[in-house]
Amino acid sequence: MKIALDVDGVLADVIVSWLEHNNKIRSEILKHEITDWNFWKKFNINQYDFYAELSKCWENWSNIPPTETKLSDFTKKISQFGQVDIVTARERSTDSFVKNWLKHHDIVYENYVSVVSGPMKADLNYDVFIDDSPLNAMKILQNQKRIFLYDQPWNQNIVDKRINRISNLSQVINQFNQK
Ligand SMILES: [Mg+2]
Repeated sequence: MKIALDVDGVLADVIVSWLEHNNKIRSEILKHEITDWNFWKKFNINQYDFYAELSKCWENWSNIPPTETKLSDFTKKISQFGQVDIVTARERSTDSFVKNWLKHHDIVYENYVSVVSGPMKADLNYDVFIDDSPLNAMKILQNQKRIFLYDQPWNQNIVDKRINRISNLSQVINQFNQK
């Protein structure tokens, strides 16, 4: 089994760093208000500014909190079920920061795969994806692959019985153990 593990929004809570930045320069937004993938539209934030600011957050990678405690344990456990690769969509310039973050948090993985856009992930040769993007989830389903959708305020609108929605990563291990 080949498992594609996402970073932003699944391992790294980068939106927390971005909100901290945003709330200094624009009106305050709280995480639970980010109810759409393209939330920047609703808040009149320029898309390119948003993505540039996210990349900037990665420059200060040591400030980015993990989504959960015990991420390292989780990646060790899940590696017993198959090949776990980090599969992340991002600006190339941030790859080295992401790798530093993964190392700092003792995340276990085999390959680091970086793509330029999220939905490209679904075309890669993986059986299972762990991701938070509703766009990626739809395409992964179209490609008849398995998705564990990590609960975030921006993916609550997507409802499909084929989606395994998880509120914490240990639920992936539990589901693998059941089969
Ligand atoms: Mg993500």
